[in-house]
Amino acid sequence: MSETCDICNAPDSMHPLLEMSLLGITAAWVQQCESCGFRQIRPRLTRETLSLIYPGEYFDSAGTIGYSDFSRQEQRYQRLAYFLAKKMRRLLPPEAKLLEIGCALGFLLHGLERYTSWNIQGLDISSFASFFAAKMYGMHVACGTLQEVRFPDSNFDFIIQKDLLEHVPHPRMHMLETNRVLKKGGYLWLITPNGEANIRPLQRAAHKIHKTGTDALPLLGQGHLSFFSKNHLTRLFSETGFDCISMRNISIRRGFRALGFLPGGNRSFSTILRKDISMPAPGNQPAIDQDRYQRLYEQIAQDINRHYNPIRSRTLYFYYRRLLQSTGRLPGWATLGLDFEFLLRKR
Ligand SMILES: [Zn+2]
Repeated sequence: MSETCDICNAPDSMHPLLEMSLLGITAAWVQQCESCGFRQIRPRLTRETLSLIYPGEYFDSAGTIGYSDFSRQEQRYQRLAYFLAKKMRRLLPPEAKLLEIGCALGFLLHGLERYTSWNIQGLDISSFASFFAAKMYGMHVACGTLQEVRFPDSNFDFIIQKDLLEHVPHPRMHMLETNRVLKKGGYLWLITPNGEANIRPLQRAAHKIHKTGTDALPLLGQGHLSFFSKNHLTRLFSETGFDCISMRNISIRRGFRALGFLPGGNRSFSTILRKDISMPAPGNQPAIDQDRYQRLYEQIAQDINRHYNPIRSRTLYFYYRRLLQSTGRLPGWATLGLDFEFLLRKR
């Protein structure tokens, strides 16, 4: 089978652009399509490598976060859930079926449970995510990829994919599958990075390595596999059966920094010596270790409780934070932010 480009479908059009290390555990090539410019890690990761890269307790939350940040994360997601519910309640029936793909520990879903009467389910590749969400919130989170779970056709009214599309090995297949399980007229809310803002720091790191002559690689700390431009995304969504309802460019300051338009850009890249890149051996990864999961759960749950601040759960505070954030957003035509936010509808 010849490998086609996920965006323009050109056969065998991907050519090596930049070698880098994914999360410090493997070396990989970013390749670029000579026909449409789309950049992606090739060869595609196998399911086995994916499990090694995202072990049971992995969950991405815009980079590396220590355990002490979970409390803040949980309250931030509560705020996000408040505004998302407010917007989507107008568009969805009260008993709408919702699926969040890549829901991590279930913070957003738990928030949405508070503000809606929707029927809510989660899906995540991390087995710890299912463990945590069930224990903490009594919520069902299936474990696996969307392709593996095989939901029935037209099963959901609303699907959320926040920081997910850049992690899936087959974005086009993943979008087609998302379309299949969504009802006609159903909504998809999606956030994914501006690929250019992810690639630029890697290129700066490669330049620095070249100058110093060290045997190192640029390090991508977040395990992103695809680097989309706005045009790539709009084409992919349209060709996989979605209409775009709205689009925004968010996290402008972090985007400016990554793109090199603001000082501090050098902080946004790092390098790793080739000899320090190491892949965990497959045999050393127990699928589910109940005792370890229990300890991690208790640690996170305790941390959430300890740092909980009632003021941060007040509606007035939500609006105050939203006002502050409104300076970090631009309309969809701008491509300067770190992330794109889309609301799509199944045709
Ligand atoms: Zn292409």
